[in-house]
Amino acid sequence: MNPITQIVRATRPIFRSLTTTTPVAAVQSIPTTGLCFELSDEQKALQELARKFTKEEIIPVAAQYDKSGEYPWPIVKKAWELGLINGHIPEHCGGIELGVFDECMVAEEIAFGCTGIMTALEASGLGQTPVIIAGNKEQQKKYLGRLMEEPLVAAYGVTEPGAGSDVAGIKTRAEKKGDEWILNGQKMWITNGGVANWYFVLARTNPDPKCPASKAFTGFIVERDWPGVNPGRKEMNMGQRASDTRGITFEDVRIPKENVLIGEGAGFKIAMGAFDRTRPPVAAGATGLAARALYEASKYALERKTFGVPIAHHQGVAFMLADMATGVETARLAWQKAAWQVDHGQKNTTLASVAKLHASEIANKAAADAVQIFGGNGFNSEYPVEKLMRDAKIYQIYEGTSQIQRIIISREVLGAAKQAN
Ligand SMILES: Cc1cc2nc3c(=O)[nH]c(=O)nc-3n(C[C@H](O)[C@H](O)[C@H](O)COP(=O)(O)OP(=O)(O)OC[C@H]3O[C@@H](n4cnc5c(N)ncnc54)[C@H](O)[C@@H]3O)c2cc1C
Repeated sequence: MNPITQIVRATRPIFRSLTTTTPVAAVQSIPTTGLCFELSDEQKALQELARKFTKEEIIPVAAQYDKSGEYPWPIVKKAWELGLINGHIPEHCGGIELGVFDECMVAEEIAFGCTGIMTALEASGLGQTPVIIAGNKEQQKKYLGRLMEEPLVAAYGVTEPGAGSDVAGIKTRAEKKGDEWILNGQKMWITNGGVANWYFVLARTNPDPKCPASKAFTGFIVERDWPGVNPGRKEMNMGQRASDTRGITFEDVRIPKENVLIGEGAGFKIAMGAFDRTRPPVAAGATGLAARALYEASKYALERKTFGVPIAHHQGVAFMLADMATGVETARLAWQKAAWQVDHGQKNTTLASVAKLHASEIANKAAADAVQIFGGNGFNSEYPVEKLMRDAKIYQIYEGTSQIQRIIISREVLGAAKQAN
């Protein structure tokens, strides 16, 4: 039994007697009403384990992975052994069914160490989420259960060379032939694309251009080893270089009908619905990066002297630190509320976008300010903050760009305003 399972079973005595359909809120020891910022004993133990893992296993090797661009398999394997990944997998598949809040807490800790490694771990969660929210028991047992049996990862394949923000513009298509679907097309920018054991793939199944997005696409589980599945070269990105990003080509890939999620035409909703659960962890990752920027900049500001005093004594520098701290706190509050909502069965689409948007902006500002506080040293790869600045940028792009988050939020705000009139 891995340490996280031990923690959960020791601190959550009712856990084992609960069915897998019990909402996560029901098994959490935090109160469900009233405001409470105190973590439960279980959460404190999870956080502590993730913090220790980050300090001992990630921080010492983060720069090396950033340079080599290698996929961090040894870390993935250790995280898997400890139960720091796959926490949200249902109990009937061998998991412990943690809530999104708990996952986010772990994500923030790991991101403090390296967001490239955090993305490598987290992208598997993104690939799994469509199966968690829309898979039947057999699909879950087969594909999520497999990830519990050995340290394998999944991936989420939606974006294409010609369509990212405009998901309804994807061209990958699947045609029904007897009991199978034949998949053809190309995906792009797929995190874990070259290392995943299986992918969630969104494909157009209704060729009629007039067919609404809500009916035109189908979600499939596609195995990496099936004939016709060809991941491309690893892309060399600006930051988060430990993460594996690739294009994938599908050529006449035969998918059994058992691998359709829910049914024909349900894919768009599944692909978009996954983000309610996965944007809070992305926001938590960005918060972890901002917290690291604050930590490094504060330490440096106390050591570096100009005009006879530590630079922290100059108000211009101290105020930058104050702004960074304000950003970290508000970004954390934002992911916490978005995660809390989804764990309590509430619609969190808006707050998931608020958290993702805010935390990504905060991470970018905090990283840029940390570089500024380091002066010339900040621009140099011997110091830790230039990596933070490169790593931060992607938070404004993947899982929906900052512009797309603003579209989602403003749509909600305007919808509420119309209703109020
Ligand atoms: C490192 C990395 C990892 C990724 N991992 C995955 C993954 O695992 N799975 C996956 O499916 N995808 C993944 N992606 C893809 C990512 O989600 C897309 O890149 C992103 O959604 C943006 O799509 P795009 O690149 O096609 O940009 P475009 O959609 O072409 O957008 C270009 C610019 O136009 C803006 N824009 C577009 N439409 C509007 C609008 N209506 N109003 C205002 N502005 C607009 C965008 O905000 C952006 O600034 C990843 C990308 C990267 C770089």
